[in-house]
Amino acid sequence: MIDIREVRVLLVEDDEDDYVLTRDLLTDSRRTRFVLEWTPSYGEAMAAIALGQHDVYLVDYRLGEHDGLEILREARATGCVRPIILLTGQGDGEVDIAAMKAGAADYLVKGQLDSQILERSIRYSLEQNRTLEALRESEERYALSARGANDGLWVWDLRDDTVYYSDRWKEMLGFTQDEVTPSPDEWFSRVHPDDVAMLRADIDAHRHGNTPSIEHEHRMRCWDGRYRWMLARGVAVRDAGGVATRVAGSQTDITERKIATDRLMHDAFHDGLTELPNRALFMDRLENSLERSRHYTDSQFAVLFLDLDRFKVVNDSLGHALGDQLLIAVADRLRATLGPTDTVARLGGDEFTILLEIDHLADAVRTAERLQENLRIPFRVGEHEIFSTASIGIALSATGYERSQDVLRDADIAMYRAKSRGRAVHEVFDKTMHERAVKLLKFETELRRSIERDELRVHYQPVVSLETNGVVGFEALVRWQLGDELVTADEIVPIAEDTGLILSIGLWVLRESLRQLAAWQRVNPAMAKLDMHVNLSAKQFLQPNLLEQVAAALADSGVVPQRLHLEVTESVIIDNPEAAAALLERLRETGVRISLDDFGTGYSSLSSLSQFPFDTLKIDRSFISTNGDRRNDEIVRTISNLARILGMDVTVEGLESADQVGRMRELGIEFAQGFFFSPPVDAETAEGLVNF
Ligand code: C2E
Ligand code: MG
Ligand code: MG
Repeated sequence: MIDIREVRVLLVEDDEDDYVLTRDLLTDSRRTRFVLEWTPSYGEAMAAIALGQHDVYLVDYRLGEHDGLEILREARATGCVRPIILLTGQGDGEVDIAAMKAGAADYLVKGQLDSQILERSIRYSLEQNRTLEALRESEERYALSARGANDGLWVWDLRDDTVYYSDRWKEMLGFTQDEVTPSPDEWFSRVHPDDVAMLRADIDAHRHGNTPSIEHEHRMRCWDGRYRWMLARGVAVRDAGGVATRVAGSQTDITERKIATDRLMHDAFHDGLTELPNRALFMDRLENSLERSRHYTDSQFAVLFLDLDRFKVVNDSLGHALGDQLLIAVADRLRATLGPTDTVARLGGDEFTILLEIDHLADAVRTAERLQENLRIPFRVGEHEIFSTASIGIALSATGYERSQDVLRDADIAMYRAKSRGRAVHEVFDKTMHERAVKLLKFETELRRSIERDELRVHYQPVVSLETNGVVGFEALVRWQLGDELVTADEIVPIAEDTGLILSIGLWVLRESLRQLAAWQRVNPAMAKLDMHVNLSAKQFLQPNLLEQVAAALADSGVVPQRLHLEVTESVIIDNPEAAAALLERLRETGVRISLDDFGTGYSSLSSLSQFPFDTLKIDRSFISTNGDRRNDEIVRTISNLARILGMDVTVEGLESADQVGRMRELGIEFAQGFFFSPPVDAETAEGLVNF
């Protein structure tokens, strides 16, 4: 309770006897020291109120030609917030409501006054005023000051169970002054059914002194039936015994803020693209499941780590916008496949995680299978039909985890294992996988040192003319001598690209293969006309000094530019076609020739490639059928016809049998590579292939 030691009171009273009476009542008060000033004049009263030197005003209702209500209204209109108590004579009872409406803190009937009643009324008014003031201040503190003036006020008198609602309070809900009676029910009947119990509980807790104030957010039904979010704050006024007699407070419309914060909360825990939960929310739910499984042995869960196969190809060849659309479509399908209690989240990129409550391992496996099955149905994205599969790793709570991140890590490891087993499969985590993952990390670290340790090699695979059967060139393919093991490019290149090592490795291969070609040219005239084909990753292509690097490698080796073919994949031209076309053109101007590698594995159409200056098209080995399926042959024929129209040579990759070679020859293909002629071999062996 507020301790009021000295209270400055202005009495506005035209009857001197009544002044004396009031003065005596105040002097009698033992609890508070009152400093009383008196004026019988309306004008003087208004001037004093404007100066604001008093804590409280006692205003007589009957003031000659004026009345107390006028003073009250005038004072409120000019911004006076101090309490004004109206004093009425006997039989002025009807003034009561008008006084409250005009903003009186209290009204007292003069004949019934005693020292205690008057003192208490003043104390309450001051206290209530302070709480309202404090509320206003705290609202400002909460940066609601702009809206503060718009707040509604309510004062709940607990003694007679009536509530004073300010006009603004009613207006906020779309009601006019007379439409709301002073009953608590007018408030609580409009609170959303889901919120009302909590609101009542909060108010009760404060009434009983268990909380310092009331602060409650709830929905209120407006006149049109729609709900708006309101913040009600309040503070109880208590009597000497600490019993709450009134609760006064404000009501603020926080609908906009609520929408904004809800949005922020949502954004903090959801992925912006797919609207799925994000990593933070997933980890939170996983944490909960882990906690539950520790306490209840029959509460088991599984985490599925799902990664789209070859998503990078889609992104690189169709562009990010369509890649994004595919991710949205995948997210929708995952949601549709799973139950309402399962959590599916997007971790980033093309990685999704799923949290399942399960009874048996079989439940997790079945769900993984169902997901894979549903993903197999082609996606329509823009005008494209995209086939997508996913590799899934599964980790089970039965493994006995301490930390949620370990569950995720193991599901991830299992997913990698699934990928390496040939994609579109699922794999359940076991302990040996962890060892393999550690090995992979070691592999990466070792690869960094491979150049300085002189462990990189280049192997050469002949490019053969199907017309003459003679070797016309070699493709340089990187190898890594790791102890006894010779690691192939398929294992090196993806990791080198992820880590950025591809730049130095690629440059090394370029220089080494040109050095080798120059050496062959010097000693063996039969090799003088051979071409060297060198692969260039998209990362290398983006290097600003690529032209200089190529020129320097050629100059240092002494090989003429015409003998060098650089092989690039569709990915280099997708993101920035104009810049890519310009760079390819400048490379060609130096005399270097350019091949489009792995054609058919991306999503570019041949006609869209016509604006790029490729010399050679290399048809991917996936179009070379092993079982004599003629449909693939037709595709190869169509591609090669179109390529010729566009002025490109055609090379087919991956010929392994005489039958395949024969068919390609029939189709009129000029050049070929493949194990049938020779796998990639070291330089010495390669040299031996040239003399037939
Ligand atoms: P690519 O450029 O399409 O090279 C052909 C790949 O197919 C080589 O694998 C080769 O060993 C394999 N291959 C050749 N003939 C046959 C066949 O008849 N049957 C089968 N099944 N496979 C055949 P490799 O050497 O593992 O290289 C894989 C990929 O790594 C290459 O595909 C190329 O894109 C990339 N790569 C290799 N060396 C380099 C390099 O120095 N720099 C860059 N950036 N990429 C490289
Ligand atoms: Mg190649
Ligand atoms: Mg290729």
